[in-house]
Amino acid sequence: MIDYLKIKEVIEDADAIVIGAGAGLSTAAGINYGEKDFKDKFPELVEKYGMTDMYTSSFYKFKTEEERWSYWAKHINYLYNVKATQCYKNLYELVKNKNYFVITTNVDGQFLKAGFDKERVFEVQGSLSKIQCSVGCHNILYNDLELVDKMIKQDKNCKIPSYLVPYCPRCGESMEVNLRKDAFFVEDKNWHMLNNRYEKFIENNKNKKLVLLELGVGFNTPGIIRFPFETMTLKYKDVYLIRVNNKFCDLAYEIQDKAILVNDDCNKFLNNILEI
Ligand SMILES: [Zn+2]
Repeated sequence: MIDYLKIKEVIEDADAIVIGAGAGLSTAAGINYGEKDFKDKFPELVEKYGMTDMYTSSFYKFKTEEERWSYWAKHINYLYNVKATQCYKNLYELVKNKNYFVITTNVDGQFLKAGFDKERVFEVQGSLSKIQCSVGCHNILYNDLELVDKMIKQDKNCKIPSYLVPYCPRCGESMEVNLRKDAFFVEDKNWHMLNNRYEKFIENNKNKKLVLLELGVGFNTPGIIRFPFETMTLKYKDVYLIRVNNKFCDLAYEIQDKAILVNDDCNKFLNNILEI
């Protein structure tokens, strides 16, 4: 039995709250990175390349830039051009009047769309809304949503017209979506600024009543959110961890008195907590 009353109390009583969000939150919000609906949405990608889902397809080796960007335009359009989901809006309702900060590995921009302050949302792994030089020759990011829109409109047989293919304005190399998938991932000024703000937020609040609300964080990149949250819970007296996860819901023995496990989907968790 999950003690939602206690969770609500812990959150209301907190001086500060850090939301750590992983793929499980967006999945619960209905943003579909997986196999569900892929065949129906992208029959041409299934037929032409044998793709099965949004995640593995992003590693496909395309023969031409025109085909590669045709694919990425569909990928970005499908996962990023989605309005704020109810699940993220509910999360915002829960914390909007609190002193909060968000760290997330999600790249779909849902926090910003749901109303979270962009000065307090650190997207560690990049964003589908930005592109960069594929070899990282300079650390500037470029907005891609207008370009993606043009690509989608002019796509024919899984190819975009050559004149829409983006190239690096500095070195002439191909461009890449700003996702951390190789050593060339660009961390721009804004990334560093938010990284500093996140560290400062922890520093300023670690000895106060700080709640770490971990939502849908698995073991893909546990070193970014999951493990540091556990370490902080162990190390600082008034830090409290709320771990919401319907797949990887366990806890180290040492922090069991300073944490609550919620073995449920993030969407249900947020609905339940807002009903109290
Ligand atoms: Zn370059």
